[in-house]
This record gives sequence, C-alpha cells and structure tokens, in this order.
Amino acid sequence: QHADAAIAAEQAGRDGVFWQLSDTRNEDLERSISLMGELDAALEAGEIEVHYQPKYSLRADRIASVEALVRWPHKTRGFVSPEVFVTLAEKTNRIAPLTLYVLQIVMKDLAVWRNDHRDVTAAVNISAKLLSTASFNASVEDLLAVAKIPATALIFEVTESAAMSDPAGAVAALRHYREIGIAVSMDDYGTGQSTLTYLRELPLNEIKIDRSFVQHAHLNRADAVLVQSTIQMAHDLNLKVVAEGIEDIACLRFLRSCGCDFAQGYLISKAVPAHMLIAMLDQKAKIAA
Ligand code: C2E
Ligand code: MG
Ligand code: MG
Ligand code: MG
Repeated sequence: QHADAAIAAEQAGRDGVFWQLSDTRNEDLERSISLMGELDAALEAGEIEVHYQPKYSLRADRIASVEALVRWPHKTRGFVSPEVFVTLAEKTNRIAPLTLYVLQIVMKDLAVWRNDHRDVTAAVNISAKLLSTASFNASVEDLLAVAKIPATALIFEVTESAAMSDPAGAVAALRHYREIGIAVSMDDYGTGQSTLTYLRELPLNEIKIDRSFVQHAHLNRADAVLVQSTIQMAHDLNLKVVAEGIEDIACLRFLRSCGCDFAQGYLISKAVPAHMLIAMLDQKAKIAA
C-alpha cells in the first residue's frame, strides 16, 4: 500500500516528498495525492478563484486595501480549505504556479478597480520558500512588466513562522521587492519563532497582529497589553499595523483607541468575490465610531 502511494507520487512527477509525511495515515496520503492531481486540473481549467477580504483603514474610515485569499470550489468536495491545499501545494512544488495564478488575477482585478479611480491596493500571501526561488522571482518581474498597475499597488504578505529556511535569500528578495515598490507585510505576527530578529532584519512596511492576540484583546488584560505595546513598538519602527480577525464591535473600538491603522475581520467582511467587493469599496459609512 505504502509502495503504491510512493509509485503514484513518482508517476505524478514528484520526488517522493510524500514520504516526509511519515505519520500520515495511508488514506490521507492517497487523498493528498489525488487532491494535488485535482489541483493541477483545476488550475488548468481556471476553477481556482480569488476572493478579497477588506482591510479597513481606521484613519481614513474606508476600505483602503484588500487581501487576496485563494478559494477552491471543488466539484465534489465542496470548498477545500486553503490551510489544506496551500500547505500541500507547498510540499509538492506547486506553490509557485498557484501563487503566480493568484497574482495574475489580482493584477487584472486591481487594474479594473484603479482604472475606475478607486484608490485601492491588494495584498497577496507569499510562501516564504518562494522568496528564495529564483524562477518565481523572475516570473513576478515578468508579470509586473506587462501588468497595468504600478508595483506600489501590491503588498506581499509573508509569515514569520515559515520564514525561513533560507533567511539570507528571503531577505534579499524582500529588499528587492521593496526597492521596486511592492510593500512587505508580516502576516500572523506574534505566532512565529524569533519575532524581534525578523523585525530587525526584514524590510517591512507593515505587521499584521495574529487574530489569536486580537480576538479577545477587548476582554483580556494580557492580550490587551500585548496588542497595545505591539502597536506602539511598530509605530516607533515606522511600521503600519493591521489587526486580523476582528469579529466584535467592542474589539474594533478597542483597536481604534490603541491607534491601530487597519482592521480586518468578519465584523467588516469575510473574503468576497471581486464583483461583490466593488460596492464595499464605494461605501463611505464609518464602522464603529
Ligand atoms: P492568512 O493570510 O493569515 O489569512 C487570514 C485567514 O483568516 C483567512 O482564512 C481568513 O478568511 C480568515 N479570517 C479573516 N478574518 C477572520 C475573522 O474575523 N475570524 C476568523 N475566525 N477568521 C478570519 P483562509 O482564507 O482560510 O486562509 C488561511 C490561510 O491560507 C491564510 O492565512 C494564508 O496563510 C493561506 N492562504 C490563503 N490564500 C493564499 C494564497 O493565495 N497563497 C498562499 N501562499 N497562501 C494563502
Ligand atoms: Mg495573509
Ligand atoms: Mg494572517
Ligand atoms: Mg494565517
């Protein structure tokens, strides 16, 4: 059975990476292998979608930016979670094509929005291992060269935990992206390993405080202190701060009182398809004064 799975992995043109998932049960292994074959087909068929979750500016009181989140409406399995298929794509050398696919859609959507004079930027999640992949970085340049948007309309979100098997390569790539105008955001801030080192070494514009710290910050003294002092520190380092995972109006008010720059979460909106976002971009109502 195990051998069958390995052969299937080989036949899929992969290098036996599934062996690394040694504690994975055989069924999971087989499911993963078929899921990745199905992902290839879905990418090919254009079935993978990109939805957008607003980043609400607490200073301008409008949606200033959006985060692209990949969505896979699977024919028989329903929506497959990105936690599942992005992680598998990373392990099976599919993360570059998936990310470039997402980037292409984001660039196209941004061009439409900005052409209608909507001053909006968009963030794309970039797996840390891609940053030290020369062919990926070259492809980003190729896409930018033909894109109808300036590089300054893009933000790359990278996670500190995934950062980094190759810190030097990743830092060099991020510096380059910064130089050409793409903003760099540290995602899930606070959950990674050596946060202060990354704050010092990475050319960041923004941090996104992980939702595990944000969610109860208005209720829990320790979380409140961590969030408040993180915002203070980030501002002293000239970084913007996004609070992720805001589901509660009291939480949003608390973050506003802390001087947080941007809020993201189900309270404002879940990720929605591009056509639903337009109305939100044009909406002027202030959320939670
Ligand atoms: P992330 O970048 O930290 O994205 C935030 C996740 O939290 C999203 O889940 C979002 O839907 C969810 N979220 C947002 N607001 C709330 C809230 O108020 N409450 C709760 N409970 N959750 C909230 P999603 O879309 O399932 O994505 C999960 C992760 O998958 C992302 O975490 C990101 O790391 C990864 N991912 C998604 N799209 C892409 C992509 O295009 N490329 C890459 N490399 N990774 C992606
Ligand atoms: Mg993100
Ligand atoms: Mg996040
Ligand atoms: Mg996350």
